[in-house]
Amino acid sequence: MNILILGPQGSGKGTQAQRIAVSYGLAHIATGDMLRQSIAAETEFGRRVKPIYEAGELVPDDLMIGLIRERLEQDDVEDGFILDGFPRTMAQAEALDAMLREIERPVTVVLQLDVPEDVCVARLSKRAQEEGRVDDTPEAIRTRLALYRRETEPVIEHYRAQGNLVVIHGDRPVDEVFAEIQQALEQAAVRQ
Ligand code: AMP
Repeated sequence: MNILILGPQGSGKGTQAQRIAVSYGLAHIATGDMLRQSIAAETEFGRRVKPIYEAGELVPDDLMIGLIRERLEQDDVEDGFILDGFPRTMAQAEALDAMLREIERPVTVVLQLDVPEDVCVARLSKRAQEEGRVDDTPEAIRTRLALYRRETEPVIEHYRAQGNLVVIHGDRPVDEVFAEIQQALEQAAVRQ
């Protein structure tokens, strides 16, 4: 299975993606984690993206597309993958569609974690206190949610039009959300 998971920051996307990857034996490709690793390792790429990341802005499409292109060339992708945090813009979605066509790995299902914005803000503020993530300042949170509305919601419409979008009600306990995801994945597997 090749899965995309979309949802605003604070929707529980990372938590659910991790569970899906473990349960179904998929490669978990999380662009936010990849960026945090590069920043921590102080690579040239990490130094370049650090200020963008910290401000809650989007890293330029060409850099993100290059990162994903390289990642999709790795062997573990052959057993299926879940892509978490990408694509976030229409340019990324179009590039991804082309890359997946090229390597003949079509998307099985696109999951959209639907969570009201005020719930996301509350969860992110809590995470800021607990984990101290540098991009969880009130200003960066506002920037990220505004960018989600402007840049990522069109991506949701793009996959809805393609017919492989499943909306998951994310404003519930983690286990209930995961159960709904499992059902959606079983149905998607049957349709294939
Ligand atoms: P996340 O951990 O998915 O919430 O991502 C954290 C931050 O990494 C975002 O606020 C962006 O600055 C950056 N980022 C992650 N994925 C992407 C992407 N696909 N395109 C642009 N920026 C990204």
